[in-house]
Amino acid sequence: MPGRRPRRTIPDRAAHFLRDWSVPRQLRGLPEKGRAAESEQSRSLRPRLEGADRVGTSICPYCAVGCAQLIYARDGRPIAVEGDPKSPINQGTLCPKGAATFGLMVSPERIDRCLHRAPGATGWREVELDWAMERIAQLTKRTRDESFVTRLPDGTRVNHTLAIGSMGGATLDNEENYLIKKLFSAGLGMVFIENQARV
Ligand code: SF4
Repeated sequence: MPGRRPRRTIPDRAAHFLRDWSVPRQLRGLPEKGRAAESEQSRSLRPRLEGADRVGTSICPYCAVGCAQLIYARDGRPIAVEGDPKSPINQGTLCPKGAATFGLMVSPERIDRCLHRAPGATGWREVELDWAMERIAQLTKRTRDESFVTRLPDGTRVNHTLAIGSMGGATLDNEENYLIKKLFSAGLGMVFIENQARV
């Protein structure tokens, strides 16, 4: 069966016992008892963060709990992320999402450019951020102007548009969500404002 270790013979087992188990090694008189207790495998283990030459602090981007993180780096590149034990919020822990922050930082799957798929197009094309921001602003303004309702048929004042919606991500923090709500509700009259963290 693939991956299965070959069955060891009794002489092999005896040799392994005499060579690797700590009691025979201590009986053989190895002076350092700590070394005698090491197995071949434990002797080769290295601290996970041994290669880091720098450590910085950050905040988990995934939810409003705001757990503190330590970012370990080598040669200017992150090599590990873990919870900051000094934080009164998470005391060195991270939930599975926060523990996956390292993957978010280094994944080759992460898109870090602006992509645009034009109406009717089947593929995406790369665009400049300035172009994308201008395009979003123009379409938002146009759609709001075309769909804005000041009063319902019964005369109730509503000042809203039902033609634009917003879906935020869990990486938006409290301050960003506050500004989004102010701009979209009070500024533009949008009603449909949701956040992935609540979906
Ligand atoms: S996603 Fe998890 S680790 Fe990140 S801030 Fe929220 S609770 Fe903390």
